[in-house]
Amino acid sequence: MIHRIEPVCQTPLWQQSLANAYTDVDAFIHFLKLDKETTPAARAAAKQFGLKVPREFADLIRKGDPDDPLLRQVLPIGEETLAAAGFIHDPVGDLEKVVVPGVLHKYRGRLLLIANGSCAVNCRYCFRRHYPYQEATVYRQRWQEAIRHINQAEEIDEIILSGGDPLALSDGKLAELAARLEAITHLQRLRIHTRLPVVIPSRLTAELTAWLTRGRLKPIFVLHINHPREISSELAIGLNRLKQAGVTLLNQSVLLKGVNDSVKTLTDLSYALFDAGIMPYYLHLLDRVAGAAHFEVTELQAKQLQTELRANLPGYLVPRMVRESAGATAKQPIF
Ligand SMILES: *Cc1c(COP(=O)(O)O)cnc(C)c1O
Ligand code: SF4
Repeated sequence: MIHRIEPVCQTPLWQQSLANAYTDVDAFIHFLKLDKETTPAARAAAKQFGLKVPREFADLIRKGDPDDPLLRQVLPIGEETLAAAGFIHDPVGDLEKVVVPGVLHKYRGRLLLIANGSCAVNCRYCFRRHYPYQEATVYRQRWQEAIRHINQAEEIDEIILSGGDPLALSDGKLAELAARLEAITHLQRLRIHTRLPVVIPSRLTAELTAWLTRGRLKPIFVLHINHPREISSELAIGLNRLKQAGVTLLNQSVLLKGVNDSVKTLTDLSYALFDAGIMPYYLHLLDRVAGAAHFEVTELQAKQLQTELRANLPGYLVPRMVRESAGATAKQPIF
């Protein structure tokens, strides 16, 4: 047990990590001992969608390996700037489903609140890479409007906090939002969709556990982990605390070429998730967003992977392979 002297400064450790994330292409390439020749292309791609990688995540990346599966998810590369047929700006039709600012009411019974526009990491394959966050986000002042909508929508029993990443907001703000939601009597469950603890494990604060579990709403945490090496021991320890406090832990991944498109990686991922107390939930096919074509795994390959996963793993460790499609009433199963 290491005893650390408490810092005098009041900014939580995770917020310092957020502020200290790599955003400069040169510094990042230097830290990872990558070939300097990759810099110009990375810079060009970062103009469209910036580099953002917290140091904790950078520490998990193998140095000097341009093919590292964790690196591939975060390093801007030249392919992003190439146009590809069928890869568009809003592939899942989300913008049509914004009912009031920050509220995506797309599926029956559950409603997605874009609680915050930014993320701790910029994932290169993200379907929100062209998303007009600023207009769509629920600002604090706008919570009124969102809360009013939820109050009237009595068929809604579950709120999903998403983003961006909702956990980029402070625990104080989130506690306030959770309290307001709890007052809406037809709500039963509060779900958080987040990748933030994966890239900054210290985000799993005692305050977070407190506001998430002290209320009436049943808490669910849906993490976004794509590769077994993303589950650091710090992350596993933090998640265990949440689980002990009664939070259901699920995971969604995106099937990504060069990251996790092998039976071995996906099998290892399911076991690693289970070891950390997390159940595999969804394995998403890539949303066809402009700039991400080089990550696409064909539907045929995806089906072959799914068949082999089902043969390899106990049924409860096989994630549901789905695709998001505009206008559908739920995510579409691939089988
Ligand atoms: C994915 C998603 C949900 C949640 O769907 P589940 O199948 O319940 O996980 C809700 N709303 C929107 C807009 C979504 O994209
Ligand atoms: S954390 Fe999620 S929302 Fe944010 S960039 Fe990554 S995939 Fe997109």
